[in-house]
Amino acid sequence: MKGKSTKHSRLKLAKYLNEHLCSFGNGFENKVICPTCVKEFDLNSGQRSFTAGHILPEASGGNEWTFLCKDCNSQFGEKQDKWLGEYLNILNNPMGTLLDAKTKSRYISINDKTVNGSISVSDVDGGIDIALPINRNPPGKLESMKFGENLEINFEIPLTLHENEIAVGYITAAYLMWFNEIGYNWVFQSSLDNVRKQILNCNRDIDGAKVIDLPTDKMEMQGVGVIINSGTLYPCCVVVDKLVVFPTPPTVASPTPKNVKFESPCNIEFLNLAVLNFPYLTLFDGYHVVVPNRLRKCPPIPDKLFNIYSEQGKEAGLFSLVNEDMTNLTN
Ligand SMILES: [Zn+2]
Repeated sequence: MKGKSTKHSRLKLAKYLNEHLCSFGNGFENKVICPTCVKEFDLNSGQRSFTAGHILPEASGGNEWTFLCKDCNSQFGEKQDKWLGEYLNILNNPMGTLLDAKTKSRYISINDKTVNGSISVSDVDGGIDIALPINRNPPGKLESMKFGENLEINFEIPLTLHENEIAVGYITAAYLMWFNEIGYNWVFQSSLDNVRKQILNCNRDIDGAKVIDLPTDKMEMQGVGVIINSGTLYPCCVVVDKLVVFPTPPTVASPTPKNVKFESPCNIEFLNLAVLNFPYLTLFDGYHVVVPNRLRKCPPIPDKLFNIYSEQGKEAGLFSLVNEDMTNLTN
């Protein structure tokens, strides 16, 4: 969803997701599942459980949102969203530097003495301004210091200590962009269990998705896609200046992105997908892209196959899987 979230638009989305969910099997009547913690919530439990989770932090101008449960949303707000938001605000500002980060350290070490002050980039000449207000330091402390020609100045930039939260922020945004594209077809994949662990524990070191820097000339496109590397397809997503690479679907025993060196991360095929109201497999040039293997249906197989080709002029198509033996896809 785009724009401002209101009580009405949140409820509309929850109802829509419930209808979508019901196509995955029985037992989802009046239920909505949070895409990140995969907990079930009752549509009738009122508005408390349904919150609008922004895909990119609202503080950095993100206006696209989706459904998240209240717990996930507030947890992300304090961790990944906070630091990704600060990072994106600097990125969005052509003159931005790390010193412009919202969270600043108040402590500066000058010739090994720690004092309270603030650091900023000078508007006049681009140099660094250091302000040491007397009233923020113990009486007499600043006066007792010798400011000679040679000053050794050290200070911390809090944002640089939160690279983990920034990376998980990108992973969370990419995961939710896929959810916005294809709904629970994305969520019901066991290959994403570790990605959800990364998101919920805010720990990029868990072996799930991988975040790769994009060259600056590749940043104009954004969205979901695939990348094929050494004969393996990985679902991916471009988020602002990064490429997030997800593990391959559960049918294929392939290395996880963490252990793969991507030689040409810019060879991205963007995909045009749509939320279709039934479970379906997605293939790209014969490679599995999305395999929802956690259906409640009996037998637990997707109904349809959505086939996409890289070749120009070859239209993507939807095929019925009713008579096909897809049981090997559900392990
Ligand atoms: Zn949740």
